[in-house]
Amino acid sequence: MNPTALITGGSRGIGRGIALALARAGWDVLINFRSNEDTARETAKECAGNGIRAEVFQADIANVNDRENLLKAIQEKFGRLDLLVNNAGVAPTERVDILEANEESFDRLISINTKGPYFLTQAAARWMIEQARLRPTEPRGQIVTISSISAYTASVSRGDYCVSKAGLSMMIKLFAARLAEFGINVFEIRPGIIATDMTAGVKEKYDGLIVNGFVADRPMGHA
Ligand code: NAP
Repeated sequence: MNPTALITGGSRGIGRGIALALARAGWDVLINFRSNEDTARETAKECAGNGIRAEVFQADIANVNDRENLLKAIQEKFGRLDLLVNNAGVAPTERVDILEANEESFDRLISINTKGPYFLTQAAARWMIEQARLRPTEPRGQIVTISSISAYTASVSRGDYCVSKAGLSMMIKLFAARLAEFGINVFEIRPGIIATDMTAGVKEKYDGLIVNGFVADRPMGHA
């Protein structure tokens, strides 16, 4: 039986890259998306081309009922969860100076980027602990979360995003500390600047900065 991974926001960008890499490595995948089902199905089809099982499931990770349904779906479809990849996340719809930024954007980013993964991880961790109890000889579950360079770098035109990712980074440390006794490893990945739909609107700006030595690696990373 293949190990099973749930990738939130696995339909596009970095999540899609992760889903494809896992599929190539022999993992069954559940690809979560929020609104763009066609893209999710295309990614699942590409994953399934590697001879594994790939399914899609719509859920807004900021919504408590959707999170519950997402875990129920993976339980019903695959019966197990070996890897949770907390990848889904959003940037502010508009970059606004921290002296002008509004609460609506702050609440949206905290809900999707921090609170959603926090409670999804909590529920997944409980399930992984139960799996370890029932099947002690099998490999333990693992949790990978995509935070950002913005977890520790100040960008004053998107303070809400930075705060949401710094909180997410602490969430990762907390679960790593709490789950160590169960052998459930918890990892953080902090991407820099990756060319995806999220960064499409600022690609020209960053391409210019990168040419002038803004980061050591060039050009922009690809998912
Ligand atoms: P992206 O191309 O915009 O893709 C976002 C994915 O997340 C899509 O699959 C989208 O689903 C899903 N999603 C968005 N909101 C969701 C929600 N509320 N519930 C469930 N799914 C949701 O983004 P990306 O650039 O690949 O970024 C992926 C992660 O990496 C994010 O956490 C981001 O903060 C982080 N990151 C990105 C960069 C970068 O330079 N791109 C750098 C550092 C960190 P739909 O298609 O249905 O909308």
